Amino acid sequence: MSLVFQRNVPLKALNTFGFDSIAERFVRLESVDDIHALHASLDENPSPLLLIGGGSNLVLGRQVPGVVAQVAIAGIECEELGGDRVRVTLGAGEEWHSSIESLLRQGIYGLENMALIPGCVGAAPVQNIGAYGVEVKDRIEAVEVYDWQQRRCFWLKNADCEFAYRDSVFKRHYDRYLITRVRFLLSRVAECVVTYKPLRDAIETGLEVSPQAIFDAVCRIRREKLPDPVVLGNAGSFFKNPVVSMSQYETLKAKCPNIVAYAEGDGFKLAAGWMIDQRGWKGFRQEGVGVHEHQALVLVNYGKGDRRQIEALAGMISEDIQVHFGVQLEIEPRFYP
Ligand SMILES: Cc1cc2nc3c(=O)[nH]c(=O)nc-3n(C[C@H](O)[C@H](O)[C@H](O)COP(=O)(O)OP(=O)(O)OC[C@H]3O[C@@H](n4cnc5c(N)ncnc54)[C@H](O)[C@@H]3O)c2cc1C
Repeated sequence: MSLVFQRNVPLKALNTFGFDSIAERFVRLESVDDIHALHASLDENPSPLLLIGGGSNLVLGRQVPGVVAQVAIAGIECEELGGDRVRVTLGAGEEWHSSIESLLRQGIYGLENMALIPGCVGAAPVQNIGAYGVEVKDRIEAVEVYDWQQRRCFWLKNADCEFAYRDSVFKRHYDRYLITRVRFLLSRVAECVVTYKPLRDAIETGLEVSPQAIFDAVCRIRREKLPDPVVLGNAGSFFKNPVVSMSQYETLKAKCPNIVAYAEGDGFKLAAGWMIDQRGWKGFRQEGVGVHEHQALVLVNYGKGDRRQIEALAGMISEDIQVHFGVQLEIEPRFYP
């Protein structure tokens, strides 16, 4: 069957900021055949291409030229490897949170700390999503990609994905790969990661240490801390936590003794939210956007916001942090176009 392209498709429900945005052409990719068909169509009619999953890490402009392709490849396969290990292969279009829920129900563990992160499986490796002490790279065996240059699918081993903090080869080369499936190495035995402070605190006050209890606690804490995009448009953390050298950290610590930071490699990862909060941005509003009242790292759309307004606000915050702390903030979501 040939691909169905729709014209002038509203993307408001397909980006968690809830920005009014129109895709010139929109198509759903449900199989590798669909990808080949899209590639052939782009050969005939070259145009820009945006891949989209759940739109929870995107800042979209009002008009999105060319093609927006929603990767909707389904599938969940589990292969027992002996011992307690299970190899799980998920289609890129599977919803991330419900996949974790479904695996938990089957007694397959390892992803529960990343519960309730919005979006699809295919986008998880793109920025190496992470939460509550676990990054997705810790659980990925390999990522299946369609390579636009070679016009074929193949598996990239974990080591070839160049994973780093909120980064990967996929994020650095948006135009090279389309992720079709992700393969995880998980376990039938609980290996709970409880290094993250809010989880340690919950354990001290009686939380049971089991995958289901961690899943429930992560969901509860996240619901308390983060605005629900259905109610208030946002893309989660808007800035990455900057990593600085030991000497830069010591200089900052002398100036701001309460600075919140964690050892990271040879340097320190600074809590961007703490710095933004210290500068009094929490609750700040400008035009239709603002900084969330309880979470300084989250920029929100109060309903009438748009990409230009978010960009302007992010620029003001970044400049202030640069002037006051001498630290350059880096934006986490992708602006498009
Ligand atoms: C409330 C909230 C909380 C969040 N919390 C976290 C968190 O704790 N940790 C965290 O790391 N992130 C978090 N995020 C960010 C976001 O949810 C993740 O980055 C998520 O993986 C994005 O998935 P998506 O399907 O929505 O991707 P999209 O926003 O649709 O796309 C993100 C990027 O990936 C590309 N892409 C999408 N699908 C594919 C594919 N199949 N192949 C190749 N490229 C593709 C897109 O082109 C785009 O560049 C949060 C966001 C929100 C709104």
